Formats: sequence, structure tokens, C-alpha cells
Amino acid sequence: MYIYRLAYAQVFTSEGFTDPIKIMKGVLQGETASPALFNLFIEGIVAELEESNIHGFRLQTIIIHILLYADDMCIVAATRETLQLKINVAARFLANRGLQVNLNKTKVIVFKRSGRISKYDVFTWNGSKVETVKNYTYLGVTFSSSGSFEVAATEFVRKGKMAQGASLSTFKQTKVFNIDVASKLFDSIIKSTTLYAAGIWDLQHSNKLECVQQQFYKRILNLLSCTPNYFIRLETGRPHLSLEVMKLSLLMYQRILNSPTNSLLRESYYSLRRISNLYPYTKYSWCLQLRAVFVNLNFNNVWIKDSANFLCLHREPILEKLRQELGVGDMELARQSRSIPHLPNIVNGAKTEAYLHRNLPSYLVTCIAQVRLNYSIIFNKGTWYNFGMFDNRMCTSCGELDSFSHLLHCSSNRDLKAKYLPNCDDLIGLVSARFRIKDCSNIYYFISSALKRKYNL
Ligand SMILES: [Zn+2]
Repeated sequence: MYIYRLAYAQVFTSEGFTDPIKIMKGVLQGETASPALFNLFIEGIVAELEESNIHGFRLQTIIIHILLYADDMCIVAATRETLQLKINVAARFLANRGLQVNLNKTKVIVFKRSGRISKYDVFTWNGSKVETVKNYTYLGVTFSSSGSFEVAATEFVRKGKMAQGASLSTFKQTKVFNIDVASKLFDSIIKSTTLYAAGIWDLQHSNKLECVQQQFYKRILNLLSCTPNYFIRLETGRPHLSLEVMKLSLLMYQRILNSPTNSLLRESYYSLRRISNLYPYTKYSWCLQLRAVFVNLNFNNVWIKDSANFLCLHREPILEKLRQELGVGDMELARQSRSIPHLPNIVNGAKTEAYLHRNLPSYLVTCIAQVRLNYSIIFNKGTWYNFGMFDNRMCTSCGELDSFSHLLHCSSNRDLKAKYLPNCDDLIGLVSARFRIKDCSNIYYFISSALKRKYNL
């Protein structure tokens, strides 16, 4: 092993590199042979557990003791007693090879519906206590002892929001607004972070995740966080994130059905499906959650047939139906809205509004979005203006009821109206479906000048 004889590390400090430090243990970081070397070293643990006569964990026809992925090891057992016995086997195996386990990173998680840790859940590794925890992040997903993925969802929302920072500043630097660029940034950085493995854990938590998408589009459009979510979706043409989750879940289902009979994936699935029939708790079962979506969409036969070919034929129709249902739901919400009742008349269904594609300056696009939303709290030139949407405040210039749309009708703005919007009696009408791009700057200059006057700036 020539490369190992030459393995040194140096630390870069404020005063330059340290002297070389010889690497005496472990495998090289980033070296392609490292996983194979580690596997060769560790492989025997599987045989040792199998030969130990300790009861294995049964998944249909397969019996498992341990899951190995890269340098992650996960011992599985059906009872406390067998888990401790297996830990003893693993501890002996590793000690014989001079390997040490980092007990700070080694945890036990006991899955049970209550999610509580019992006083009997005590385990030791070579005499040292192994901590029993309620949540553990394995291969990037947080597993909870209750079997629910609520904590995972919260964690992915946090990660998704963190990923927004960089994308937002990149987007804002361009000064020109193009929704396609924004959506590409969102999909490649934020969505991929938020929906990591979501096809497995998220069927019940998509609503929670939607806030990540909402926050991103509200920020780039300079809209208040209380702006209704359906407004953002109807305006941008972005579907619910739950549609993406369903897409991922169907891909997962397809992968399971395409995997060989007796494979771990397939057998895990059949075990879960069987148990779900015996104990029908949707909250804890991916199978029941998926079935519920099929039943809602009238595709229950996909679940009953349980065949890869049949699923393949119906995957797109299922997604299309879900997309339509969610879109209809959004239009219905818009119709019932008290604050933006005009919306159903000005949006063109689930398609992106044209002005968002036109590479207009960002200040014009955000101004139009706000006019279309017609809220009385608006953002202009770096400042928020609150007209008091729900508290019936009076205009200080003319004494009439104040609102954002009142700017156009206020007697003190007659000259501005004559200058910028002489033929307009209704701002919303002006920015409705077929508004002219050349009106955008007039709308913007009218609003900016009227605000400047109103607030004596
Ligand atoms: Zn007025």
C-alpha cells in the first residue's frame, strides 16, 4: 500500500502550513479505494452476527441483523435483549480488529408508538453506556422513536430556509426579474435540499414544507409573509410542493416494484404492507399514506394491482389529476377571498403570469405584483407603507377611507393621475390579464410619487 506509506496531513493556519503529520490510522479521505478497504475490513461482522444464533429481524423471507452503508452501521433487533447481544458481538468483532467506536456518535433508538424512552431501554458497549435517544439522523433523514417523520419535516424546513439565503442574494444581484431564473435557483438549491428523500418520509407533511417555497417567492416579489399562499401559486404558476412529493413517492413505489423479488427493498415493502393491514395507523405507514392518495384521486386500482407496469402507465395521469385538484382548490380559495376577490378574474389559471417572464427591472415587477395583490401594505423603494388594511383609517389628505387603491382616487393626487395614468380609473383593471408592459413604468412612477407626497418624503 504505497499511497498509505506516503499519507501525510498538514493543517493550514494563519501562520502557514504546519509540519507534515503522518497518518497512521483509518482510510484516506476522498480516496476511491477507501470504501472498498473499509468494507473488506468490516465485512466479517455480518457473518459473525449470522453465526451467533441470536434471533434476527425478519422481513418476509429475509432475516437481517445489521445494515451497512459506507461507514455507517445500524444494528437492528426486535427486542431489547437481542439488541444487547448483537451489540456485544459487534463490540468484540471491532475490538479484535483494533477498531474503536465513537460512542458520542453511537446511539440506540427504540421504535414504539408512544415515542417515550423506557427506564429499561439501557444498553452498553464494552461496559460503557450507549445513550438511548428519541431522534437520530441516519443517512441524512431524522428518524423518531414514534415512527413519525414530523421532526424530520421540521428539520428539512429549517435546512430549506437556510439554503434560501445564497439563492436570494444571487437572484437580487441581477436587478432584472425573470421567474424562470428564480425557479431554476429554487429547484436546484432549495427544493433539492428540502425534499431530500421526501418520497419516503413526507407524504403527511407536505403542507409544512410548502412554507419554504412560499417564503422564497414572497421574498423575491417583495410581498408580505401573510400574503395568501394560493396567490403566489396562481401568480407564479408554481405547483404545490406536495405535487413534487407525490412525484417522488411514485418514483419510490416504482423502484420498489421494479426491484427483484426477495431484495431487501421489496421485502421491506411487503412487510410494511402486511403490517399496515393488521394495524391500520396511517400516521406511521408509508403504504397507507400512499393508498390514501390513490383512493382520493380515484386510482385505488393502482394500489390493488400493485404492479410495476400498471403503475408506470398511470403515474402521469395520477400526477395530472392531483395537479388539477390542487389548482381547483387554489382557485376556490381565491374566489372566497375577502381581501383579493378580484383575483379569479385576473389570473390565467395555473400558468405563470406573463409579466414575470419579461426580464423587466425588479422594481417594476414587484410593483405590479403588489398592485395585483391590492393589499394596503406595500413595499416601495426600500420602505414598507401601511395604509391600515383592516382598521378603516381615513386619508389624511382628503378625509376619505384610505387604502392602496385610494391613491388613484385621492383628490390630492389629481395632477399625478393626469400626468401618469390619465385614462385609468382602476389600478387593478390596468394590471389585469392583458395589461400593457409600457404602462408598468407609469404605474410605478405614479405610486412612487403619490407615496412621496403622502408621507412628505
Ligand atoms: Zn385621499
